[in-house]
Amino acid sequence: MRHIGIFTLALIIFACNPENTDQPQKMQSQSDDLLVRNTYTNEQFYEVPKRNIPTDLPAKPKNIILMIGDGMGIAQTYAGYTANKNNLHLFQFPYSGFIRTESIDKYITDSAAGATAFSTGKKSYNGAIGVTPDSVAQETILETAEKNDLATGLVATCRITHATPAAFVAHQSSRNMYQAIAKDFLNTDVDVFIGGGYNDFAKRDDGTNLIDQLEQNGYLVLDAPDAIESANGDKIAGLLYPEHPPKMAEGRGEMLRKASAKALEVLSKNENGFFLMIEGSQIDWGGHDNSTEYITREMLDFDQTVGDILDFALQDGETLVIVTADHETGGFTLTGGDPEKGYVEGSFTTGYHTAVAVPVYAFGPGAENFKGFYDNTGIYHKMMEAFGF
Ligand code: MG
Ligand code: ZN
Repeated sequence: MRHIGIFTLALIIFACNPENTDQPQKMQSQSDDLLVRNTYTNEQFYEVPKRNIPTDLPAKPKNIILMIGDGMGIAQTYAGYTANKNNLHLFQFPYSGFIRTESIDKYITDSAAGATAFSTGKKSYNGAIGVTPDSVAQETILETAEKNDLATGLVATCRITHATPAAFVAHQSSRNMYQAIAKDFLNTDVDVFIGGGYNDFAKRDDGTNLIDQLEQNGYLVLDAPDAIESANGDKIAGLLYPEHPPKMAEGRGEMLRKASAKALEVLSKNENGFFLMIEGSQIDWGGHDNSTEYITREMLDFDQTVGDILDFALQDGETLVIVTADHETGGFTLTGGDPEKGYVEGSFTTGYHTAVAVPVYAFGPGAENFKGFYDNTGIYHKMMEAFGF
């Protein structure tokens, strides 16, 4: 042993570690123990057509579509871009910026406070659903749009009572109050909402059947994903799954695209315009799972929906589209990739959200106001200004 020496021993240990074969030696830190790394190779590539993106649009939009990729940081978008052979609809948006995401009392926000900042323009605490820090209901942009005779809608790939969509229609002190949140849907006149969460309306501790009440209020209630395409109603409550919709890897298919198309079909009938929020809910869950595959597949599903929305807005000419995130999840980054093979290697530094600023992309009348660096509450204020409220 004495003859081997410390240096030789270190060399042997270094050479025997498979992580060190073709990589520079890592700086040792405590976070190395937490580092998770895994890969995904995409096999379902899609075309992203070259689009002519006009910028000589009217100053004021008639419609606003806010698209939220939950937990979608730069690395999540870039994983999708790489996995689809360097193609992403999202990257055709002419204006981009960044937003700060922290909540009123936490450096790292959750989705409830994040969505409440977008929906009300007010910072609140983690867990808050459409309420101020002292738990007082705050009018949301969706409710203001309703008051101004616009049509409104919510589409998500989670239960519709989950934090992000909930914060646009409900007012509850905690995101966990799913049944109370479901009841709040009956207090607004939202025209379309599509996601999961049937049980929050149908199997309730208070014994009430909110499905019956929805029907009495004029909603066509859908309880299965294959009902979306043929659905024909002026008001639609799409509660397509008992709880959350499945992940892409477990067969969700084109639910988000079809639900978004249906929402556009219904909302476009209102000649005053509409406000629609569409969420790619599970990009976040891929981050919590520290799964490169989960993130990438959800990102690509969201991006294909972004492409559909961009085409709608291009044809319509009066629709402002904003795509952003409530926060980043997973401390995700890319430590390898090959766009030609649709291959991405992701690494993670946490199982929760992170504090870093997240991107904003915008197209349409007033889109130029969304560039730069600002607070997440700015999304609300810029949308309100665009609507002229
Ligand atoms: Mg969410
Ligand atoms: Zn999350």
